[in-house]
Amino acid sequence: MRKPTLAVIIPCFNEELLIESTVNSLFEVINTLIEKGKILSDSYIYLVDDGSKDKTWSIIEVLYKKNPLVKGVRFVKNYGNQKALMAGLLGAREIGCDCVVSIDADLQQDQWAIEAFVDKYSDGYDIVSGIRNGRDTDSIFKKYTALFFYHLMNLLGAKIPVNHSDYRLVSKRALDILAQYPEKQMFLRGFFHEIGLKTAYVKFDVKPRVLGKSKFNFISLLGLALNGITSFSIVPLRIIAVLGFFMALFSFGLGIEVLYEKIFLNSTPKGWATQVAMSAFFGGLQIFCLGIIGEYVGQVYREVKARPRYIKDVELY
Ligand code: UDP
Ligand code: MG
Repeated sequence: MRKPTLAVIIPCFNEELLIESTVNSLFEVINTLIEKGKILSDSYIYLVDDGSKDKTWSIIEVLYKKNPLVKGVRFVKNYGNQKALMAGLLGAREIGCDCVVSIDADLQQDQWAIEAFVDKYSDGYDIVSGIRNGRDTDSIFKKYTALFFYHLMNLLGAKIPVNHSDYRLVSKRALDILAQYPEKQMFLRGFFHEIGLKTAYVKFDVKPRVLGKSKFNFISLLGLALNGITSFSIVPLRIIAVLGFFMALFSFGLGIEVLYEKIFLNSTPKGWATQVAMSAFFGGLQIFCLGIIGEYVGQVYREVKARPRYIKDVELY
């Protein structure tokens, strides 16, 4: 296989504190790989500014002026990490490359694992997924909610390896497939796993964030998780259907029982409390089910509108 041109894409949201050092560290990796003859010398870094409110973009502009191997795009507003990654992948495809590695701006993921990614690519793998060695840098809460999420996703049929991350290499071929998918709410971890190209896994260490703070909060993570589930699995809908069937069966049995009591035992209904409890229970259950259906309706609604994923403001390349 011929030597690849590697594009490293970085989603950035308010990362003024560390973007420059991150770019420098990544060029160290890129230059080492060029020296070792593993990638071509036109390999570059592509920064996606996800509508930062701080100086992130002006820093990117300066870096670009100093070195044309730094490229970038800026969104008009904050669209979230998945959209930024998407823009990075499709942008790199347009600019031209043989493979892309996506990595976070805070370099919590060990950047030297990129060498192992590239090696796997040269061995013929189209997708090389980074698997975290652990979640020691996460809070207990995030660790367990994340684990719960991955197990739930697997249970629901979207087979994503636990401790999977958006730190991965994908080939031009995978990008071409991605470009054919019109869906807007793409859950990339699920997507790259699902398309069925040859996939390798590389373990990497996670470091604590050195500067700035996490750009995710509970709500945005919950959004990511719900989106992941509703865009990859219809099992919750089936569960509702099955649940509904058994509820109907139960109600039917209950009805017969009540009739029997009324006709043969002639005991007038007295259980007001039971009534209230039952209606509350069913009311709750119905709302819960409606909530799940709502999730899917929301998904359909977002896709059907077929709005562009994001709007680019400025492009540098
Ligand atoms: N990020 C982004 N848009 C957002 C939130 C985050 O582009 O709305 C980027 C962020 O700049 C970083 C990456 O996504 O490069 C991961 O974010 P962060 O490190 O804050 O997440 P955590 O490591 O806490 O999961
Ligand atoms: Mg981080």
